[in-house]
Amino acid sequence: MLGKCLCGQTAFQLDVPKIKAYQCHCSLCRMQSGTASNLGTIVPAEKFSWLSSRNHIKSWVKESGFSSDFCSNCGSPVPNELRGMAYYWVPVGTLVDAASVDIVAHLCTNSKAVWDSIPENSVQYDNLPDISALINELNV
Ligand SMILES: [Zn+2]
Ligand SMILES: [Zn+2]
Repeated sequence: MLGKCLCGQTAFQLDVPKIKAYQCHCSLCRMQSGTASNLGTIVPAEKFSWLSSRNHIKSWVKESGFSSDFCSNCGSPVPNELRGMAYYWVPVGTLVDAASVDIVAHLCTNSKAVWDSIPENSVQYDNLPDISALINELNV
């Protein structure tokens, strides 16, 4: 599976058959994505590879540890390595040939925008779930 930023300077590949993703509705993810929620997935590091140089990737890190990596040429969010874990976070909208995306959970529903609506029958977490549990959900 191939992923790239708007300008194409950042490209990467995932060695996974299908994508399971989550949507996080917190205020940080809204600003980072520019929309109601972030659509992300987390894949094991051995299933992720860069197809381009990373020289033009910039990283903004909040004191809390929240980080946003983006292409300094076009501004697209790009994957980043999870702190201290052998996993990569991947913004799902950057995947160019994903045949299907299964949304398994909605996170931080307590802080969603008042105008946002979340499907009723979905799995929802008021806040951030345990990261290991979430990673398991995304990789079964
Ligand atoms: Zn770019
Ligand atoms: Zn969030």
